[in-house]
Amino acid sequence: PPCRRASSSRSRSVTTRAANQERSYVMVKPDGVQRGLVGKIISRFERKGFYLKGLKMFNCPEDIAKEHYKDLSSKPFFPDLVEYICSGPVICMIWEGKGVVKSARKLIGATNPLESEPGTIRGDFAVEVGRNVIHGSDSDENGEREIGIWFSSGEGTAEWTPHMEPWLRE
Ligand code: ADP
Repeated sequence: PPCRRASSSRSRSVTTRAANQERSYVMVKPDGVQRGLVGKIISRFERKGFYLKGLKMFNCPEDIAKEHYKDLSSKPFFPDLVEYICSGPVICMIWEGKGVVKSARKLIGATNPLESEPGTIRGDFAVEVGRNVIHGSDSDENGEREIGIWFSSGEGTAEWTPHMEPWLRE
């Protein structure tokens, strides 16, 4: 129903979400915003057939960047990475659909843009690993973890039923 509250889906754990409700946390990094790539990036996910279920612009405080990238905290580039993510506004998104986590990684391309295939977002728009334009969750579990970090207040999310589903999937 259109009026179902967003919190009902947020409280569902990854194990109980239906396959077609898989979610990825995708973020346009500050360089993507500055370079005017937001529309092009959103377009690639829309045209593939995923559903935008969360969207907000956000000036990331250091603690959120550190929490998001906590698995990389021992890496030598970690301080620069945190500074980069906090250097300007980011666009935080939740994309939903069957297979979205893996598919988003393919749309995004390899971490190092010089190794990303042409046709991928990083392959088409970036050259430097420290300026690689976009983030996408690397597993279902991390997708839910990251959505919890960036959309903790629920602001920027809304529940809606995609009516094009029968035209996309058998
Ligand atoms: P991905 O973003 O493709 O999941 P990682 O989780 O390995 O890749 O790294 C997270 C982010 O950290 C990368 O997207 C990139 O912005 C940054 N990063 C990774 N490796 C390096 C590196 N060697 N030097 C600088 N920044 C890096």
